[in-house]
Amino acid sequence: MKIDGQCHCGAISYEAVIDPDDIGICHCVDCQQLTGSAYRVTAFARREDFRVTAGMPKTYVKTGANGRIRYQMFCGDCGSPIYTTGTDEDAEEIGIRWGNIRQRKALAPNHQIWCESAANWFGEVAMLPGRERD
Ligand SMILES: [Zn+2]
Ligand SMILES: [Zn+2]
Repeated sequence: MKIDGQCHCGAISYEAVIDPDDIGICHCVDCQQLTGSAYRVTAFARREDFRVTAGMPKTYVKTGANGRIRYQMFCGDCGSPIYTTGTDEDAEEIGIRWGNIRQRKALAPNHQIWCESAANWFGEVAMLPGRERD
């Protein structure tokens, strides 16, 4: 599936081809800190199927709890997370952050990792009282 997206301020944009049946949730502590939220949702593309079409993301390098080096690419102007990649065989995969994908409403997660650090209320959100807008 062809997708495209841009950061919140619009300085960075990209396009990619992803597998819409491979959308993951990550509950790891790093994702919680780096997003400021409870979990992160990511779509995946092969490196050759991903292209930054405008701007230059900044890179934050971290070592994950599994010991792997991860590059966190984000907009240096607005701070939006854009994508992630890694070293060695991980460099062949681009993890695209769901929140900036224009077609995101069509992309529902179908697997999750690092459930041991998931917020203990995860799964109960749909039962909360809600309003259409703020
Ligand atoms: Zn931006
Ligand atoms: Zn994570």
